[in-house]
Amino acid sequence: MSEFTRYLGRIASGAASLVSGMEVTIRYMFKPVVTVRYPRLRLDIPEGFRGPVELVTDPETGDHNCSACGTCARVCPSGVISVQGGKKKAAGQDGEGAKAPEDPFVITDSFIIDFSRCSLCGLCVESCPRKALRFSHMYEQCGTSRQVAVVDLVARQKALAAVGCEPAASRPGPQQQAAA
Ligand code: SF4
Ligand code: SF4
Repeated sequence: MSEFTRYLGRIASGAASLVSGMEVTIRYMFKPVVTVRYPRLRLDIPEGFRGPVELVTDPETGDHNCSACGTCARVCPSGVISVQGGKKKAAGQDGEGAKAPEDPFVITDSFIIDFSRCSLCGLCVESCPRKALRFSHMYEQCGTSRQVAVVDLVARQKALAAVGCEPAASRPGPQQQAAA
């Protein structure tokens, strides 16, 4: 086989490879788009999505229903929950004799979870007698240190409420909203 023949063969092989590659490209040009231009566009999150646990906001009170009973902390297999709270005197009330969880003046001061060690098993959500916990729809989790994964859910809920934001799970869905 002459050098010229081999040269023509390589050209033919390259052309066949190019056509093969373009065939895939052209085929997908006419198929439905399955990606979004993140972060400008976001996908709808399925109802059963298990994002990091969050406190449920009671629509009537605008607050959570956690009574700091500690059940979730006891059942957590990873031991990542720390709940602080107790009987407190509210305005016009006597804190003596308060019994969690019925008394309205049992206050949860902090509800800290270390999400870096949470397996999202759901035992805390299922065991809560007051249905005060649920899975969020948050799916963007990143940080530059382990400490950012340690979150006080009470403080976060208050911070979100202060700026008029709802917890992620109560949104109608991270819909396809163009940022601008
Ligand atoms: S979230 Fe539920 S189980 Fe956990 S401390 Fe609060 S009321 Fe108790
Ligand atoms: S989801 Fe499981 S591992 Fe995570 S905090 Fe709740 S009980 Fe613990």
